[in-house]
Amino acid sequence: MSDGSKPLPGVLRWNLGDLTVTVLNDGWFQDSAENLVTGIPAADAVGLQKSGHRPSDPRVTLNAFLITGPGRKPLLIDAGYGPLSPVDTLGRVPAALATTGVTPAEIETVLVSHLHPDHIGGLLGDDGKARFPNATLVLHADEAAHWLPDAALAKAPDGAKPYFENARKVISAYEGRVVEHRGGEVAPGIVAVPLPGHTPGHTGFRITSGSRSLLMWTDVVHLPAIQFAKPEAGVGFDVDGDQARETRKRILAEVADNGTLIAGSHLEFPALGYVARDGGGYRFVPELWVSGQQ
Ligand SMILES: [Zn+2]
Repeated sequence: MSDGSKPLPGVLRWNLGDLTVTVLNDGWFQDSAENLVTGIPAADAVGLQKSGHRPSDPRVTLNAFLITGPGRKPLLIDAGYGPLSPVDTLGRVPAALATTGVTPAEIETVLVSHLHPDHIGGLLGDDGKARFPNATLVLHADEAAHWLPDAALAKAPDGAKPYFENARKVISAYEGRVVEHRGGEVAPGIVAVPLPGHTPGHTGFRITSGSRSLLMWTDVVHLPAIQFAKPEAGVGFDVDGDQARETRKRILAEVADNGTLIAGSHLEFPALGYVARDGGGYRFVPELWVSGQQ
C-alpha cells in the first residue's frame, strides 16, 4: 500500500516532434495578494482570484522541465526549490524526476532561466553539494553579473541579501562548470530568449523539433488568474517591475498573435497551452493532454 498522506509526484510528458518535454512539478507556495501583487490594487487582484475560482491568497505553482529525445542527453530547465524551500509544499522535483527513470548523474546540461532560489535551489542536494554531478549550468551573462560578484552582494539591501547569497552558494557548487550566454542556441534545437525585467538575465527557451515549437517563457506570468487578464500586474520580487511589465505585454501579444505553444515555470500544472486575446487582456487556453500519446 502506498502512503496516502504523501502526494504522488506531479509529472507529465508531452510530445514535441521527436522530443519529449516532461513537466516536473516542484509544488507550490501561498502568499497574500497584498504581499505578492504590484501594479494593480490588491482588492482587484483578490477579485480576479475569486472570479477565477482560485483562493484569495494566491497559490503559486512551480515547475521544472526535462527535455529528452533520441540521440541526445537528458537536459533540465531549472531544478525547483530543493533544500532552499521555505515550506514543505515545495522541493518535489527530485521525486518527479525519479519517476522518469532519468538519474541526476545522467543530466549533462541544466539551462538556468534565472538565479532566483525557486529555480536553482534544487541544483543542490540535501548535503549542500551539486545534485547533478556531471551537469554544466548554462545561464545569461547579465544574470551572473547581477547576482554573483562580491560587490553586488555588498551593495544589496539587507532584505535582498539572501537572494544573492543563495545564488552564490548554488553557483559555487558547480565551480568550473558554468557557461554564460547572451541569447541564441544553447543546446541542439533550443534557443535562449532573453526576457529581462523579472531579473536582468531572465531567460526563456524556444524548443523546436521538426515542425513543432514551444516557448518556455519561465516567469513572464506568476499569477495566471490575475496577469493574463491584467498584464500590468507584477510581483513584488520583480527586480525591475517596469521592464518586466513591458516584457510581459510584448510576449503576450506576440504569442497570442502567432498562436505559439507556451509553457511556464508558474503556469498551473501541467503548464502547456496557448494565449488568446480576451477583451483588453488575455486568457490562457490549456493544451489538450491525452493519455498514451507516447
Ligand atoms: Zn520563479
